[in-house]
Amino acid sequence: MAIKDEQHPLRILFFPLPAPGHLIPIADMAAIFAARGVKCTILTTPVNATVIRSAVDRANDASRGADGTLLPIDIAVVPFPDVGLPPGVECGSAVNSQADREKFYHAIRLLREPFERFLAETRPDAVVSDSFFDWSVDAAAEHGVRRLGFIPTSLFARSCVDSMVRNNPVEAAPEDPDAPVLLPGLPHRVELRRSQMLDPKKRPEYWTFLQRVNAADGRSYGEVFNSFRELEPDYMKHYTTTLGRRTWFFGPVAALAGKDVATRGGDNGLSRPDTDYGCLRWMDAKPARSVVYVSFGTMSHISPPELRELARGLDLSGKSFVWVIGSAATSESAEWMPDGFAELTAGGERGLIVRGWAPQMQILNHPAVGGFVTHCGWNSTLEAVSAGVPMVTWPRGADQFYNEKLVVDQLKVGVGVGSMDYAWKLDARRAVSGEAIAEAVERVMGHGEDAEAMQKRAEELKEKAASAVEKGGSSYDDVGRLVDELLMVRRKTVNV
Ligand code: UDP
Repeated sequence: MAIKDEQHPLRILFFPLPAPGHLIPIADMAAIFAARGVKCTILTTPVNATVIRSAVDRANDASRGADGTLLPIDIAVVPFPDVGLPPGVECGSAVNSQADREKFYHAIRLLREPFERFLAETRPDAVVSDSFFDWSVDAAAEHGVRRLGFIPTSLFARSCVDSMVRNNPVEAAPEDPDAPVLLPGLPHRVELRRSQMLDPKKRPEYWTFLQRVNAADGRSYGEVFNSFRELEPDYMKHYTTTLGRRTWFFGPVAALAGKDVATRGGDNGLSRPDTDYGCLRWMDAKPARSVVYVSFGTMSHISPPELRELARGLDLSGKSFVWVIGSAATSESAEWMPDGFAELTAGGERGLIVRGWAPQMQILNHPAVGGFVTHCGWNSTLEAVSAGVPMVTWPRGADQFYNEKLVVDQLKVGVGVGSMDYAWKLDARRAVSGEAIAEAVERVMGHGEDAEAMQKRAEELKEKAASAVEKGGSSYDDVGRLVDELLMVRRKTVNV
């Protein structure tokens, strides 16, 4: 589809926020555009370059094999600004204290100078900038470069945030944490509890930041989404027609795993291809759809009481499990583990605990997995959708409560555990009981009519996700349309 200009390929610069949930889909996106003849460069800092290196190498190998034409993705490296963080700490997931978080955000703002220098030197046709670099809209405009905003979230969540920042419905709501708050102007009635939403009065800086991000994306050439039309058609229409924002879909990138244009080599590119992951072998011996997979992504912290209830819930569910647990829990293992839980995991009798990085894509695509307890990070959500795995949802903050609404209420491929509080502070959350977790697991993985209907819907979505990224699919065509348009715009600009 895309118009080819072999002599002067379209050049797109990708500029991700240094956090795994942003780096992974941006590296994948670059691979998708590279496979369509675009010369792609990813601009990042040294440690983050190392993180995405294997994903990029694999994509380069795959495109070399595809049709003999090689337009390798380049990684351009700029130093991480010296803001007093320990050496090697360059990624959001490596920052633990509030003081370091502030330093990290300061460093992010300082990236503007090297970004501008790079734009001036290389003058790409367009930049796909992480939306969290709200300042990049002005920087790109100053250098005459078209900016496409990217944020790893759903169109549904993005529409909710837009409604939120323009209407501030929380302000007018009663103080009661359980008071329902309606988000105005959306295609459906979307209502959350006050406690599940960002409170602008409690986080004024973050609130202003979200407003800036929304305005910057609105002023951009357009926005690109790791999603697909068939997943959230009403919100695509709302975003483009009602809000008048130009949007292209390129996902779900997770559905490309294992395909010819493989961007991920069967996983998200961050897992090492040469590593023998024991949990995959362990699952080989389990019956189909019998294992529940548990992970809360790369940024969430789980308190010891939450770990304890989760362990109780997994025990009560009677299911086998693979639970990816952060290093935070390692030292306190004796404190939070309920009686008898250590025995369940010793020798992998009933379950496995993975400490550190797990090959999530491969786990979700393993036939033994029948359910996913997730925090509803958008990458994880789409990875489950692409693998046809229904979800048990336990959102904690950011866009996760909105993604939960999409999964549970709209797509009907998940059941919530009853997470009540938008809070990053561990002690500020109301407890979710082990019983509630076990019940949600049963409703997703059981053998009743409802569970089977949910599994069927999840399978149907998997098919739709795969079709969207295939040749002639909706996202495949969207990428072609965007490439064509950018080439056309360049021709017009050159001819003027
Ligand atoms: N991930 C993984 N292994 C892990 C933890 C995370 O592969 O042990 C990947 C996961 O597959 C997803 C990303 O890290 O692609 C997490 O992104 P998400 O948006 O789900 O959550 P975040 O970490 O941004 O909260």
